[in-house]
Amino acid sequence: MISFDLECNNGHKFEGFFKDYNAFDDQMKAGLVECPVCNSREIKRLYTGCSIQAKSSLLEKKQPTFFEMVRMVESYIKEHFENVGDRFPEVARAIYYGIEEERNIYGNASKDEMKELIDEGIPVVPLPKIDDIEN
Ligand SMILES: [Zn+2]
Repeated sequence: MISFDLECNNGHKFEGFFKDYNAFDDQMKAGLVECPVCNSREIKRLYTGCSIQAKSSLLEKKQPTFFEMVRMVESYIKEHFENVGDRFPEVARAIYYGIEEERNIYGNASKDEMKELIDEGIPVVPLPKIDDIEN
């Protein structure tokens, strides 16, 4: 998933999300990209996403990128949460119903299993898998 800064011919700036650069290119060429404010299809890309980091700015606090954010969340979870692997749905349920001690866990669950847990009112949160995002 990538995003581009876009602007319509009426000067509305917005962000467009696309699967990859080719998807963006195809949609632009086919005139499918639409301004969310005025629905104009005369869209141009703003080239604000590229930058060269000057040496003098290296010491400044920089904004983490999306992938860095995901990695930070992931490493936080790995440090503070117990990995229950494929037993995740089972353990999540046991904790929720008070059968097991309350604690933070993470692990694997299929989409259907996640849906079942959510339907039961169990507060599970899907985690993005870095491998999936980067590929
Ligand atoms: Zn517009």
